[in-house]
Amino acid sequence: MELTAESHSIPLSDGNSIPLIGLGTYANPRETPKGTTYESVKIAIETGYRHIDGALVYYNEHEVGQAIRDKIADGTVKREDIFYCGKLWNTFHPPELVRPALEKTLTTLQLDYVDLYIIELPMGFKPGDAFYPKDESGKWLYYETDLCATWEVECHPYFTQPKLLEYCQQNGIVTVGYSPLGTSRDPSWVNLKCPPMLEDDLLVSIAKKYNKTTAQLCLRFNVQRGVVVIPKSFSPARIKENFEIFDFSLSDADMKAVEGLNKNIRFVELVMWSDHPEYPFHDDF
Ligand code: NDP
Repeated sequence: MELTAESHSIPLSDGNSIPLIGLGTYANPRETPKGTTYESVKIAIETGYRHIDGALVYYNEHEVGQAIRDKIADGTVKREDIFYCGKLWNTFHPPELVRPALEKTLTTLQLDYVDLYIIELPMGFKPGDAFYPKDESGKWLYYETDLCATWEVECHPYFTQPKLLEYCQQNGIVTVGYSPLGTSRDPSWVNLKCPPMLEDDLLVSIAKKYNKTTAQLCLRFNVQRGVVVIPKSFSPARIKENFEIFDFSLSDADMKAVEGLNKNIRFVELVMWSDHPEYPFHDDF
């Protein structure tokens, strides 16, 4: 299948399809000025992105919804052109809380539906008003739920996930790779033992050969092997840069060379929750 800026969706088994690149929208809410998400989502839609990845727990879903609605209102897109993925947060895992949580997302977005709703993390937290509940001594308040887990997978040249991808491909499951550029390296939640991926010598040299940036190379690597990417950027220039991945393709030798960089290291390791009984990252997948 030839991938182009206008046509880069892959089919899902229910008859719908998902664009191979989406805009990630998580940014530390304490450090992100109001309105940044709104402007970034609008620029992304103008650039040609048709897939937006968001969540109630990112505290900016209202801005995402407003941007989508404004781009619909000005005629740039129709609702059905946009693929929006929302997420069920850890405090809403009990079955009776799932529908109200989804309704909260829809009210916040002021949209009639989401295209995909996923379990954000397969680890339940105590339901209640606090998204990050702790007791008086500062201990996390976990909550046991019976979970059929299905969730997004960190995926990039340092964590290529061969075993999981093979399983998914054999079973007709599309994989979405979060943190495809190696995250923002925010020390409050990112494993910084892993070196900055975008500075990797081999990635830098392969990217140069194609006259592309290292970020574009990392994104192209994943979309070329059928993995959906959701790079986050709130910089207008980088939002555009990250979308310019449909005018080149990597040779088989370069795909292999990038695959060879796998270190089986997660940037999103979430060690603060590693004592949770359902902590997912002790297993291979
Ligand atoms: P990414 O790998 O997308 O990296 C984002 C960082 O890279 C930001 O600091 C951004 O800065 C910078 N950046 C973006 N484009 C470029 C570029 N072209 N060159 C250099 N730097 C660049 O990290 P995320 O962890 O944010 O993952 C992406 C998205 O995945 C999230 O925003 C979220 O939507 C989703 N996610 C979901 C998770 C889950 O549990 N379900 C977990 C983690 C992420 P700037 O904005 O200044 O450009």
